[in-house]
Amino acid sequence: MSLTGDLLALMAIPGLSGHEDRVRRAIAERLDAAGLAHRTDVLGNLIAEIPGDGPRVMIFTHMDQLGFVVRRIEDDGALRVERLGGVPERTMAAQAVTVGTRAGDLTGVIATKAHHATQPDEKYVVLKAPEIRIDCGFSTRAEAEAAGVRIGDPVTWRAQALELANGRIAGTSVDDRAGCAVLLDLARRWADAPPGPPVALVWSVQEEFNLRGAQVAAQALAPRIALQIDLMLATDTPDMADRGDMRLGGGPGISLYSFHGRGTLNGVIPHPALVRLFEDTAAATAIPLQRSAQTGVLTDLSYVQLVGEGVAALDLGFPMRHSHSPVEMVDPADLTQLADLLAAALPRIGPDFALDRD
Ligand SMILES: [Zn+2]
Repeated sequence: MSLTGDLLALMAIPGLSGHEDRVRRAIAERLDAAGLAHRTDVLGNLIAEIPGDGPRVMIFTHMDQLGFVVRRIEDDGALRVERLGGVPERTMAAQAVTVGTRAGDLTGVIATKAHHATQPDEKYVVLKAPEIRIDCGFSTRAEAEAAGVRIGDPVTWRAQALELANGRIAGTSVDDRAGCAVLLDLARRWADAPPGPPVALVWSVQEEFNLRGAQVAAQALAPRIALQIDLMLATDTPDMADRGDMRLGGGPGISLYSFHGRGTLNGVIPHPALVRLFEDTAAATAIPLQRSAQTGVLTDLSYVQLVGEGVAALDLGFPMRHSHSPVEMVDPADLTQLADLLAAALPRIGPDFALDRD
């Protein structure tokens, strides 16, 4: 299976935070096929450990996606929801969704008022997530309940993957199934890989639910080095141009600075030895490496770096446009180069790899 094949397959599987089980099983099946042992912890993180010599490295990527949770079933069968994760409310109108019930998946649409009846003062108003109604075609609450819908059921954008010009792919949950596919690609290379440090590959849970799974995995694995694979905000569109210089199709990226800037006030300033490692590897392999420094960005790594006596940390990623919308866009060439870069960098982490600051 190719990296792009994995990406398209994984994008098709709903996996709201806390409901990643089908995504995990799909990845576990691929690990089985590659002959790699794995285990799952109580939160649902999927972990594959590969022995080696040197400082222990944890490379992780999240399986979950954002969405909604059913809060109430109305008398007319419409579903009302709570938002889970950073769903952009501007993208909600008229979208199709999947409701995961105990009886199976249902399709619904986010109701949109008839244009003919929309008043001038309503035209430019964005509804909040708790205000929307999801119409699955039911006429009564009893019908919805008979179909298996219950309070607490997960709701995600209806899965789609669109193949665009230049091989680019747009669709749901590219964040972070693209990372999952990169990590799978890396796992498949292991049989032929040169000796390197002990590595734990982690497909983590509940990232979009305020960054929970990877921290637990790090507590158990006690790595000295942690590498996160997630999106980097592409800034090659006019609305984003101010924020940096990250081009879709321009190769993988590293983050030199991330800061939430609100809420958690968390962020990551990477360990200089890891920045140097990836810069040197990129130069030696002629893989382009883009740089990111962003406020408004927060990843699991913020918490992972604080585990134990501290973990040397670096965010790596792929440029992505239209983040958190149902049409997140990625260039598969960036993903392949990211996997190439990781495969080339890991053997350079020998037993003498220095993490001291002086
Ligand atoms: Zn992500």
